[in-house]
Amino acid sequence: MAGAGVVALGWGVQARPSARLDAVFASGAHLTGLLAGYGVLVMLVLMARIPAVEHGVGADRLARWHARGGRHVLGLVAAHGLLALCGYAVHTGTDLVEAVDSLLRYPWIAAACLGALLFGVVGVTSAAAVRGRIRHETWRRLHLLSHLAVAAGFVHQLAGPDLSGGVLIAWLWSMAHATVAVVLVWYRLVVPLRRALRHDLRVAEVVEESPDTVSVLMRGTELAELRAEPGQFFRWRFLQRGLRSTALPFSLSAPVHDDTLRITVKVLGDHTRRVRRLRPGTRVLATGPFGALTAHRRTRPKVLLLAGGVGITPLRALFETLPGGPGDLTLLYRASNAGSLVLREELETIARRRQAALYYLLGRSDDAYDPLAPRALQALVPDLAAHDVYLCGPPAMAQAATASLIRAGVPAGRIHSEDFQHA
Ligand SMILES: Cc1cc2nc3c(=O)[nH]c(=O)nc-3n(C[C@H](O)[C@H](O)[C@H](O)COP(=O)(O)OP(=O)(O)OC[C@H]3O[C@@H](n4cnc5c(N)ncnc54)[C@H](O)[C@@H]3O)c2cc1C
Repeated sequence: MAGAGVVALGWGVQARPSARLDAVFASGAHLTGLLAGYGVLVMLVLMARIPAVEHGVGADRLARWHARGGRHVLGLVAAHGLLALCGYAVHTGTDLVEAVDSLLRYPWIAAACLGALLFGVVGVTSAAAVRGRIRHETWRRLHLLSHLAVAAGFVHQLAGPDLSGGVLIAWLWSMAHATVAVVLVWYRLVVPLRRALRHDLRVAEVVEESPDTVSVLMRGTELAELRAEPGQFFRWRFLQRGLRSTALPFSLSAPVHDDTLRITVKVLGDHTRRVRRLRPGTRVLATGPFGALTAHRRTRPKVLLLAGGVGITPLRALFETLPGGPGDLTLLYRASNAGSLVLREELETIARRRQAALYYLLGRSDDAYDPLAPRALQALVPDLAAHDVYLCGPPAMAQAATASLIRAGVPAGRIHSEDFQHA
């Protein structure tokens, strides 16, 4: 917001007040164009995978900010185009169709139209109604078009009237774009490649945990340097046919130990089916660690870990490592039946060793008895309101559990969750 204020201030300093209609349109177009240009840079930084930002804010929250901000940027781009068109039509005394025709002859307007069109494609394919119908990979590739759109927008801004006449502002604008480009290349390309070369991570073993869940153990060198914390996740690119082109997010299901990383994966679609068939020795490129569901979020001595389904993975790692004495930790693990519980032996061993409470909440989500209702939770965890809660599970379960916890007196700020749908 502060950055948007500075941009608006820059616009205010440059603006020449006029009551003429074409000047009012032009001035509005100028402001919305500058704000849209600034907005896309913020959107890119949010998704640049900067470890400090990912760790401090959380990847799921960043993705939600990016989605919300993206809608505002699209609105600003549309408003900028419309205001500029109206301003030109009023100034030249032409109708809107003639104005479009003559404006398209300017190369910097053609660049703007290309950028706006690409942003439109990115926006439409990200709308919930469309995104749910296309493959994640298709959506991701279309989303990459936004980089081309930003480049087209930058050309438009430098060559067009928005920045002309202001050497200082044009220089600052170019520096801002260059900085964001360097940050993106650094964190999304250079860092992962350097890490891959340094750690030489490879699949060591794939272990069947349940009929539809496997754990993948990976070994490398100097893995302590990654400083991965329990509760965090990486984006994993397995260099095996069918998995090379995608980086899948999976949480660590155990703390880093003896140069070994472990993830536990539920088979849901094409990629996770291939993960199950990974061969030992397969090279792995891992970017991360990401995520803020770590011990740093904790504010109280007592902690409740609340897992639903495969959401047990980050909580399993935290259950072993969160500091605490006997009675401080409780793990509630929701699953439809005993057969779908994974890592059960490990959880029970940890619970015994740490004198922590462990309860399985079994049953289908449409059963009459709801084990996540406020009273049911309070019966299992009597001083519930005095706990920090770490929550990870399917979106519907996480939403219902959050509402119950709040009704049971846990302040929203003490409910720390990871969303497996957004990152
Ligand atoms: C932060 C985070 C941590 C996760 N940790 C675990 C874990 O420990 N264990 C586990 O089993 N699952 C985890 N998931 C979910 C896991 O990433 C998806 O289930 C998996 O990518 C599905 O891939 P698929 O192609 O087999 O399934 P599909 O049926 O193609 O997809 C199933 C769901 O996963 C989403 N998805 C697919 N590919 C990606 C991708 N590259 N990036 C983001 N989302 C994608 C789809 O949009 C869809 O909602 C995590 C997700 C996130 C965001």
